[in-house]
Amino acid sequence: MIKINLKKLIDKQLPNFLNKINNFSHLPFTIIDVKGKILWGEINYDQTNHQYPIQVNSHIYGWVIGDEEISILADLLSVFTQQELDKKILAIDTLEKYEEINFLYDISGKISNCISTKEVTDLVIEEAKKIFDTNSVSVLLFNENNKLRKTLSFSSDLLANNSLIPSSIKPILTHIMVSGKAEIVNDVSSDPRYIPEPKNRIKSLLCAPLTTQKGIIGLVVISNTESTNYKSHHLKLLTALTSQAASAIKNALLYEELKEYTETLEQKVTERTTLLKKANEELERLATVDGLTKVANRRKFDRYLENEWLRMKRANSPLALILCDVDCFKLYNDNYGHQKGDQCLKKVAETLKISVKRPADLVARYGGEEFAIILPNTHCEGAAKVAEQIRLKICNLQIPHAYSLVDKYVTVSLGVTCVIPTESETLEQLIFRADQALYSAKGNGRNQFYFKYYYDS
Ligand code: GH3
Ligand code: MG
Ligand code: MG
Repeated sequence: MIKINLKKLIDKQLPNFLNKINNFSHLPFTIIDVKGKILWGEINYDQTNHQYPIQVNSHIYGWVIGDEEISILADLLSVFTQQELDKKILAIDTLEKYEEINFLYDISGKISNCISTKEVTDLVIEEAKKIFDTNSVSVLLFNENNKLRKTLSFSSDLLANNSLIPSSIKPILTHIMVSGKAEIVNDVSSDPRYIPEPKNRIKSLLCAPLTTQKGIIGLVVISNTESTNYKSHHLKLLTALTSQAASAIKNALLYEELKEYTETLEQKVTERTTLLKKANEELERLATVDGLTKVANRRKFDRYLENEWLRMKRANSPLALILCDVDCFKLYNDNYGHQKGDQCLKKVAETLKISVKRPADLVARYGGEEFAIILPNTHCEGAAKVAEQIRLKICNLQIPHAYSLVDKYVTVSLGVTCVIPTESETLEQLIFRADQALYSAKGNGRNQFYFKYYYDS
């Protein structure tokens, strides 16, 4: 109820007017307030005097006492009072609007600095706490299916503790969610949508939806353990707050979802890259390894020999090459079968592998039952030693070969050569010499190595 001070009105604004009335009409009158206090003139105890009310909308602010003709003055004072009342209402309205604009300006600045949902909701809660004298502020966020996504509140004992909305007020909140209109419920128990519940402590609430262009994404609920006296002014402020916060929350949610999606995507890309890297390594290995014997294949041999040739040339160091061929292997295959032949080749390859010790040494399958061993930084004597060790180790394997023309076990013949690569030498010459040496070993009776120097004809 807006109060009007009749005394102030008469003292400050109307003395001239009342004096003139007095002078012109020559009618005595007295003005009193509702408590009987004299505001103008003197009480005349003449019984003929009447009392006329100064009133606006049936509310009496005072009385004019005098003869019947003076009743018009009461009517005039009623109009003045009405005008005063209108001015006051306008002033209050303007002040509220000013506060609202000020608040909006302030909050929009703060909200624009928020990046995460938590930051925005924390700000909403903080501001709501300041404006509304309340026990609890909650921000309820819903997903696309109108399922509660999360609840953020400063006093979780009153509203949902992170998953449930109290069933007593749920219909009210659902209604606000559907209608999209903010509401004041100053006394929940008198609301027809309220479901009485012994445990319920919420006596009043103020609730506004968080509305974005694409629909309602949540609710801001101010709840109290006492009934309240919230007015439309409060509702306006809450709506101003939620309208600012809604799009900020929506943007933050989108940003968070996008961030999460990007992170999962990045993780997936990293996982796939690792898998791809492994697959490539395996492919590379398959492309350079002989399927049967698991030593390097011919492709790898060619590349490796070329590299080592250049490296030894730069270092002016010797490069040795051994060609190792299984003796009478056709006879072995023909009599024991291909499978046994394969097993034999595997064993020979394993023996070759353990016969070379240096990291730069390479054993490769040169073709069929023929192997090649590259020994960088190895002199003639060293290469010859390795060749002889290989021959002995193969003999010691004692793989029966009843059809060999050499021995009762599987044996090998080896052609060895070595050179310090120079401009006048070629890699092909090195291979050719090793081949010639192998041929000599075969010709000399097999199960032996033959060494061919670069200057041998
Ligand atoms: P030499 O002592 O003169 O080397 O006689 P050899 O019989 O070993 O040589 P030849 O070149 O006449 O025969 C090579 C045989 O090696 C032919 C083939 O039966 C066998 N061979 C080649 N590659 C493979 C293979 O991958 N697996 C099997 N099981 N046998 C193979
Ligand atoms: Mg052979
Ligand atoms: Mg051969």
